[in-house]
Amino acid sequence: MPDRSFLGWPFFETRHRAWAEKLDAWCARNLPVDHHDVDAACRALVRTLGEDGWLKPTAIDAENPAPLDVRTLCITRETLARYDGLADFAFAMQGLGTGAISLFGTAEQKLWLKKTRAGEAIAAFALSEPRSGSDVANMDMAATTDGDFYVLDGEKTWISNGGIADIYTVFARTGEAPGAKGISAFLVPADSKGFKVAERLEVIAPHPLARLAFDGVRIPASAMIGKPGDGFKIAMSVLDVFRSTVGAAALGFARRALDESVKRARERQVFGAPLAELQMVQGHLAEMALDIDAAALLVYRAAWTKDAGAARVTREAAMAKLYATDKAQEVIDKAVQLHGGDGVRKGHIVESLYREIRALRIYEGASDVQKVVIARQVLGGN
Ligand SMILES: Cc1cc2nc3c(=O)[nH]c(=O)nc-3n(C[C@H](O)[C@H](O)[C@H](O)COP(=O)(O)OP(=O)(O)OC[C@H]3O[C@@H](n4cnc5c(N)ncnc54)[C@H](O)[C@@H]3O)c2cc1C
Repeated sequence: MPDRSFLGWPFFETRHRAWAEKLDAWCARNLPVDHHDVDAACRALVRTLGEDGWLKPTAIDAENPAPLDVRTLCITRETLARYDGLADFAFAMQGLGTGAISLFGTAEQKLWLKKTRAGEAIAAFALSEPRSGSDVANMDMAATTDGDFYVLDGEKTWISNGGIADIYTVFARTGEAPGAKGISAFLVPADSKGFKVAERLEVIAPHPLARLAFDGVRIPASAMIGKPGDGFKIAMSVLDVFRSTVGAAALGFARRALDESVKRARERQVFGAPLAELQMVQGHLAEMALDIDAAALLVYRAAWTKDAGAARVTREAAMAKLYATDKAQEVIDKAVQLHGGDGVRKGHIVESLYREIRALRIYEGASDVQKVVIARQVLGGN
C-alpha cells in the first residue's frame, strides 16, 4: 500500500486530498494501458483522461478563469506516474503544450483549451532545436513577417507528442533583439501547410517524440502568443509552472519502486528468512523512504509557493526538479538491485521504471542546468 501520509501535510487543501483519492481509485481501475503502439495508447489515454475530467487542471477554463493549480498538477502527475508512465506523459503534455495559451493567449487562442481539457485535441511544446537544447536563446528557427502573416522556417527536435499533436506551441526568432529578447511564441495547428514530421525518435522509454520541419509555414499574425520578443519570457513562465511537476512525476516513479521493493523484501526468502530481515536491505529501504519524503517536501513546497501567489518560483522549482529526479533515479536503482535478476528482466515493473526515470533528468532543463539556476539564485543573480 503506497504511503499517502504526505496528503496530510499543510501544503494541501481538502479539495486536493479528495482529488488524489478519486484519481487513485480511477488509476487502479484503468491503468496501466498496453504500450505496444505508443501513438494509439497516448491518443486513447488523452481521450479517456479528458472524458473522465482528469485533464481539467492542465489548462485554464476560459469561461471561468482561475490560475493553474500547481498542487493539483503535481498530485495528478505523481499519482499517474505511480501507475503508468505513459498516462503521466499524456496528462503532462496537455499542460506543457498549452501553458503559453493559458498564461498569455488571446480569447480566440483559448478556444483550443476547451478541446485540450476535454481530451479532444492533443498539444505539444516545441522549443528545443538540434543546435539549441539547454542553450535555448541560441535558437535558429525564424519567423519573418509577410503582411498580416508570419512565415516559419527551421527545425524543432525532441518534441513530445510530435506526430500526434493537433496544436504546437512553437518558439521562433523574430529578431526584435539578439538572443533571448528576439524570440516569439506561436500557436501552430498541425495541419498548417509546410509543417511536417521529419523524423520519429525512439528513446529508452518509448513515447511519441519527433523532429519537426517547418518549411515556409504561413500563419496569421493573430497566431502569436503574447507580444513580439516575449517568447523566451513566455517559455520560462510556462516552465516555472511545470518544472516542479516533473519532480512530482519522478516522485510517483520512486514511490512505486519503494512499494515494489517492500513487497519483494517481505516475500522473497533468502538464507532461510525474508530479504527484509537483512539489515543492509533495511538500510536501502530506509534511504529510499528518506529520499522520497525529502523530494516530496521540495516538490510540494514549490507547488504551494506558486499557488500562494509567488510571481516566480525559479529557485524552488529548480530544487524540486533536480532533487526529485536525481533521487528517484537512485531509489529506482536500489529497487532494481533488491529485485535481483528480475530487476533487469524486460517487462518487469522496476525495469520499466529504470528506463522511465532517465529522461526526466534531461528534459525541461538538465540536472546540471538546474544547479546553475540554483547557484545563480544563491549568489543573488536572476
Ligand atoms: C524524452 C525527451 C522529451 C523531450 N520533450 C521535449 C519537448 O516536448 N519539447 C521541447 O522543446 N524539448 C523537449 N526535449 C528536449 C530537452 O529539453 C533537451 O534535450 C534538453 O534541454 C537538453 O538539450 P540537448 O539535448 O540539446 O543537450 P545539450 O544542451 O547539448 O546538453 C547536454 C548536457 O550538457 C550539460 N550542460 C548543458 N548546459 C549546461 C550548463 N549550462 N551547465 C552545465 N552543464 C550543462 C548537461 O549535462 C546536459 O545534459 C525532450 C528531450 C527528451 C530526452
